[in-house]
Amino acid sequence: MAGFEGKVALITGAGSGIGREAALGFARGGAKIVVSDVDEAGGAETVAMVANAGSEAVFVRADVSKAEEVEAAVAAAVDAFGGLHIVVNNAGIGGEANLTGDYSLEDWHKVIGINLNGVFYGMRYGIPAILASGGGSVVNVSSILGLVGWSTAPAYVAAKHGVSGLTKAAATEYAQQGIRVNSVHPGFIETPLLTKTGITPGTDGYNFIASKHAMNRLGTADEVANLIVWLASDEASFVTGSNMTVDGGYTCQ
Ligand code: NAP
Repeated sequence: MAGFEGKVALITGAGSGIGREAALGFARGGAKIVVSDVDEAGGAETVAMVANAGSEAVFVRADVSKAEEVEAAVAAAVDAFGGLHIVVNNAGIGGEANLTGDYSLEDWHKVIGINLNGVFYGMRYGIPAILASGGGSVVNVSSILGLVGWSTAPAYVAAKHGVSGLTKAAATEYAQQGIRVNSVHPGFIETPLLTKTGITPGTDGYNFIASKHAMNRLGTADEVANLIVWLASDEASFVTGSNMTVDGGYTCQ
């Protein structure tokens, strides 16, 4: 999608999966990209892929659960490209699979720290930079599990529901100041987040998860990235505060 010439996009968790595909989508539209991740090798690969897509990127290592690192990533974006117009708060982890009554406090704090605090920090430091650059857009990556429940993922479900609420709160605050804030809610997507837990094609777990979607399949990272890029584009100029699904019909059933 064209229309991002002169724009700068900061994407967290852009060293893999959905974040990487979003980076490439913005790059193809002409945006300069700040690739942020804890995975330096993955981040470097995305930077090279952005160059192949005809744009320019820098890598900034930042753990989104640490406020000072997110603040530094935003500052690095402005230093590198002279402004900031788009923030995609995408970095996330799955966390332990366990019942609420058995869930480890360690993983509770870890998942909330990355999946919820990380999104807040991205807006806390990103929004002032977007305002200073004349306006833009924030896209937060939630999940269908930010809309409905799922057994054995209490921290993930709570964090992703929190992202839905944070999105609406910030959207109302900045609607008249030229910043739109939306969230995307993917169904199960075939990325390393899932495949490294053993959910791979041909397994019973994969087939069971596929069957929960009306389309009876998992999604791909680029199918989610397409929605992220559209939401950040001028084509979505009247869209703010939306929690949009991209879930192959999971939540409509
Ligand atoms: P992914 O391929 O694992 O990519 C996530 C990236 O974020 C990885 O490079 C990961 O690095 C990085 N990351 C992890 N912790 C971080 C931290 N503290 N600070 C900065 N970066 C960090 O996963 P994905 O599926 O693309 O997930 C992207 C987003 O989509 C997440 O918010 C996830 O919850 C959401 N989502 C995914 C699915 C799905 O089924 N895949 C469904 C709904 C929503 P490491 O690999 O080193 O951990």
